[in-house]
Order: sequence, then structure tokens, then C-alpha cells
Amino acid sequence: MTCILNADDAHLNGSIHKAALMIKNGGTVVFPTETVYGLGADAFNPDACKKIYMAKDRPVDNPLIVHISSFDMLNDVAYIDDDLLNKMKSIWPSPLTLLLKKKNNVPDIVTSGLDTVCIRFPDNKIALKLIDEAGPIAAPSANLATKPSIVDSETAIKELNNRVDAIIDAGRVKYGVESTIIDCTKKPYELLRPGAFSLEDAISILGNVHASEYVEGYNESKIALTPGLKYRHYAPSKKLFLIENENEFIKFISSDKSKDFLALCSYDNAKYARYDKIILGKDIYETAHNLFYDFRLLDNSDKKYGVIQSFDEKGIGLAVMNRIRKASFMAVKDKENIGKINMALYE
Ligand code: AMP
Ligand code: MG
Repeated sequence: MTCILNADDAHLNGSIHKAALMIKNGGTVVFPTETVYGLGADAFNPDACKKIYMAKDRPVDNPLIVHISSFDMLNDVAYIDDDLLNKMKSIWPSPLTLLLKKKNNVPDIVTSGLDTVCIRFPDNKIALKLIDEAGPIAAPSANLATKPSIVDSETAIKELNNRVDAIIDAGRVKYGVESTIIDCTKKPYELLRPGAFSLEDAISILGNVHASEYVEGYNESKIALTPGLKYRHYAPSKKLFLIENENEFIKFISSDKSKDFLALCSYDNAKYARYDKIILGKDIYETAHNLFYDFRLLDNSDKKYGVIQSFDEKGIGLAVMNRIRKASFMAVKDKENIGKINMALYE
């Protein structure tokens, strides 16, 4: 039985306390962060961390992120040089995750046997309080493996009921895409995953951060640098088609070809949709906020397929496009390839 913990003002402290006790006793708890919901357990308890992989059907070679709520805690789990530590003091808590050399007390199950560990200091008051009480929490995103990340507690309850010990029922999260991951074990630092913390801001604070073209989200299986990136991610169950050329996207959604498609589009492009549509947002922040939520709306709709437009890859837009490409069954860049969409419907 999963315990659903009420997060309204009157119950919040009691709920967090209960969740922390569960974690200390080797249990698993789904909790909100500012990015997406996480599925956490005591980072120092290997048996508890094993339950995370089982609850999510996650392959054990895809390591977890260790969540901390203070710089003292950081000291228990990873090595960091003074220069980087000082910079992080001006940034954390925030949706920027660092890959660092791990300390020995972090069990192998957390890092899939690697000598590095991802560290995150989340900017969410429920998460911070939970970690304060329970100690460092190992947590990946709460979704079942390959599914879109979970950005609301209703979906968390639907997807994880009876798979975890407790779920904190705290509504929608702030950003809607996962944290940015930067590998700080090498120079220059390397962007492993674009996320809610913009690359531009990371560079202005940390200095040079190298971003290879795989962060765009194409063909990650061939060039996986981080273990998690070899797996298909974030995808709705229905086939989603990305049309990167905006004119072609508009032509497609305004034509009869789009009859069986739900169009996922910006506020400005919604007027062109001849059939059903979902407006992702008025700006890129709203789009990020709604993206995974709307993938699930697509799955619950009566349309057979989804078609989605592209967005500017600035700021959080880099993460939005990375997630869209990974979630897409097919990405079509130009006019010549539009015909491939129809062929793919029968694959
Ligand atoms: P999730 O929280 O579900 O987004 O998953 C955590 C992400 O962090 C995955 O993409 C992992 O591959 C990545 N990650 C965690 N630990 C490491 C590590 N030691 N080395 C490389 N990537 C890592
Ligand atoms: Mg994930």
C-alpha cells in the first residue's frame, strides 16, 4: 500500500516528517522538486536504493542522483575543489547537477559502480526539508523507465501507486524539465544533459562548459557519454512526430493530413491547426512546464498520433528541444522528408 501524504499548509510538516521516517527506515518516497518529481531512498542504504530501480523498472546501469540540502552534506558524498565550491555557493540551491568524484560511503548501487556521483541541491522547500530530516537522498525522476517524467502528483499517484511506500501530493512542479547535468571531473567541464538551468548561465558562472552536438538529442544511443543516455527516454506511448521546419509544421497541421494527429504547438501557431490541438505555452518557460504533462494528454486523447513543432534552443529551450527529439518517433527537418511521416505511420 502506498501512503499518499497531504502537502497542504496544515499537513505539510507532519507529512514531511512521516516521509523522512520512511526513508530512514529503508523505504521509498516520491517527492516534488522544482524540476520534476523524484523517487527517493536513503543514499547510504544499498537495499533501499535497489528498491528505486525495481519500482521504476530502471536498468541498474543507469545511476541515480544524490540530493543534498547543505554544503556539509556535500562533504559526506563527493570531492569538490575550493574554486568550484565557492562558485556553487552562489548558485545552489538550483536545478544544476554536478558530476563529481564520489566518496567511499556512497554505495555502488547509487552510481552503477562508477567512481563518480551526480550531486543535486534542489530549490524546492519540500525537497529541502525532507533531505534535512532524512539525510542525502538518492533519486532519479519518478516516472517508470522510458516514460515521460512526472510533473504533477496526480500522475505520480496513477503511475506509482503500490510501487513505492509514499507519495507527497504536492501538485504541479515549477520547471517541468529535469536538472542540467555538468561533468566537473574534467576540464573544460562538459554538459551531459541540458536542463532547467540554462547553459548560458552555467557558462557565465563556471567558465567554459563544453557542449557536444549530442545534447541536441539526436541518436544518443550511438554516442552515449552518460549511461542514462543510451536508453530511449521521455516518450509518450503514441508515435510523436517532430517537424523542425516551422513553415512545414504549419502546412501540416492546417492540412487534411493532420486528421489523425493531435498538434502540440505554441500559442501563436494554434490558429493554424485544422484539427485537435494542445497549446504548449505562450513562451518557452510555459512550454517546458507543460511538455511532459501534454505528452501524457496525448496518450490519453482519442487521436492516434502526435505532431509537435520545434522551439528556439536558447535558455531552457535547449532542454525542451533535447526532450522533444528524444521523445519523438521521428524528427523531420525539411520539406523533402515530410512524406516519411505517412510512411512511418505503418511501421
Ligand atoms: P534521472 O534523475 O532519471 O534524470 O536520471 C539521472 C541521470 O543522471 C541519468 O541520465 C544518469 O545517467 C545521470 N547520472 C547519474 N549518475 C551519473 C554518473 N556517475 N555518471 C554519469 N551520469 C550519471
Ligand atoms: Mg529520468
